[in-house]
Formats: sequence, C-alpha cells, structure tokens
Amino acid sequence: MIGFIGLGIMGSRMAENLIKNGYDLVIYNRSKSKADKLLASGAKWAESPKEVAKNSKIIFTMLANPEVVENTAIGTDGFLSEMSEGSLWVDCSTVNPSFSRKMAEEAQQSNIRFLDAPVAGSKIPAENGQLVFLVGGNKEDLEEVRPMMEVMGKAIAYQGENGYGTSMKLVVNLMLAQTMAAFSEAVNFGESMGLDKATVVNTLLNGPTAAPFLNGKKEKIMQNEYDAEFPLELLQKDLQLVSKTAYESNVAMPIANLTKEIYGLAKQNGLSKEDFSAIYKFLSPKN
Ligand code: NAP
Repeated sequence: MIGFIGLGIMGSRMAENLIKNGYDLVIYNRSKSKADKLLASGAKWAESPKEVAKNSKIIFTMLANPEVVENTAIGTDGFLSEMSEGSLWVDCSTVNPSFSRKMAEEAQQSNIRFLDAPVAGSKIPAENGQLVFLVGGNKEDLEEVRPMMEVMGKAIAYQGENGYGTSMKLVVNLMLAQTMAAFSEAVNFGESMGLDKATVVNTLLNGPTAAPFLNGKKEKIMQNEYDAEFPLELLQKDLQLVSKTAYESNVAMPIANLTKEIYGLAKQNGLSKEDFSAIYKFLSPKN
C-alpha cells in the first residue's frame, strides 16, 4: 500500500487521483472528516502517522509547513521511526531547502530514502492530475515513484540533489506572490483614476505584461469573492521561507521582503483563509 498523509486542498485531490488509477492507499489527516470521501473510495484509515508507516513502503506527505512536516515525521507518533529500512518518503509540501536537506538526513539515519517533490499548480490542476512535480533527490528513487507522479501530474522536473526541488518551488512561488500583488496594485491604480475595473483587468490580461495564471484569478477579482484555491496564509508562509533562504544564501531580496510584509498585513487583517488573490481586496482603497 501507498501511504498518504495530509488531505487538505491539495493532498485530498492528489490521493484521489492515485486511488482512481488503481493504487491502494493508507491515509492519515489531523482532521479525519477530510478523509471521508477517500475512505468511501476504498482507502484505508490509519489512526496516526506511525500507523501509516506500518502499512506502507512509500509515503507521500502534503502538509502545511516545515513545522507540521517535522512533527508528523519525527514527533510523537511520527512515521519515520516506523518505516522499514529502504522505504521511501516523498515530501510534496512546500518547505525550505535547508529543511528538506535536514529531513533527508533524518531519513538517511534510519536508512529511509527521501525525495523533496513540491508541486506547481493549485486546486484545479491537483484535481485534474495536471500538477508539475519539482523533484530533488536520487534519480533512481524518482523512477520508483514516477508512475504515481504521472497520475497526479502532467510533468516531472528533476532539479538535482535533495533540497533543489524545494529551491525551485520557492523560485516559482516568489514570482507568483509578486505577480499577484503587482497586478492587484495596477488594477487598483486604474480604478482610482476612474477607469472601468473590467476594462483595466481585460486590457492587462490581453496584453504582454500579465502572467498566464492571472486569467484564473479574473473572476475572483471581478466578483470580489475569494474562495480559497491557495490560501493566502500559505503563500505568506512561502514568502517567509524565501526570506529565510535568501539570508542563508547570502542574497538580498528587497522586493520579496516588501511583498512578504504586504501579505503579512493582509493576513493580520483577517484574509488568511481566503485565496491569495484577496491581496487585490486588501490593497483596494474601497476597503
Ligand atoms: P491545506 O488545505 O491548508 O492543508 C494543509 C494540510 O496540513 C492539512 O492536511 C492539514 O490538516 C495539515 N495541517 C496543518 N496544520 C497542521 C498541524 N498543526 N498539525 C497537523 N496537520 C496540520 O493546504 P494545501 O493547499 O493542501 O497545501 C498543502 C501544502 O501544499 C502546503 O505546503 C502548500 O504551501 C502547498 N501547496 C499548495 C498549493 C495550493 O494551491 N493550495 C499549491 C502548491 C503547493 P487539517 O486538515 O487537519 O487542517
């Protein structure tokens, strides 16, 4: 059986694609209710991360942040100590590279193999098996899980040793955060001068300056409703990880750090659980 831990917006959909494609899953999530649909589809419930390890030689994790991953892996009831030697742990959570390397070392001490394999793509790509896996670790280990990744994703991009998967993921999410904030500010600027909101949005989206993902945020901004595909608090977490990693890498990131604090203010103002495109609402003078 394949183990899957973390059944939030992303993990639940990734696990569902594994089941649909014939894999037997043993699953765990802090809140059991999120597992109901998967259990109805035939997955087996484990009462703890440790119990997942008793039943599987490959475990995928898709959890909120480094602290949660660490606690789930090596805390009380953590799965790592229960995995049999030679097993493989694939962490798909968005974490920081130095943390991925630390987990790789923890795993190695128990003779467990480790891949950092965060994903690009949000709720809908997760649902449609269209994610892009950014993978760090041993190439042979990747080959072992490639068939599983292929049913959850449309592409697998090998980046190098452990930590390079998460390195690339932070690069991607830095652009995501900055682009969303820049677009939001531009639309608000247009409106403040009296331009029609829809005209500003469409002009930007039909021109060369807008990133393709912004098309998927158009309706949210037009309706000013931000049902979460990617919760703002998680992108703010990613910017914290970018900032920490920039310090570790001895590089100055002035724009990233300003953007981080803008999302921090939005979080402080109650937008944590909304989609990160709610940064438009936060920056709007009408709020
Ligand atoms: P989510 O819906 O908020 O799910 C978070 C998961 O972490 C849930 O399983 C949650 O359990 C668990 N968790 C949170 N705090 C915990 C704690 N203190 N103890 C134990 N478990 C805890 O988030 P998601 O969107 O699926 O994101 C999961 C990961 O993928 C994150 O690292 C995120 O940055 C990354 N990611 C997200 C997207 C996206 O568009 N949503 C895209 C790419 C990557 P409960 O269900 O009990 O809360």
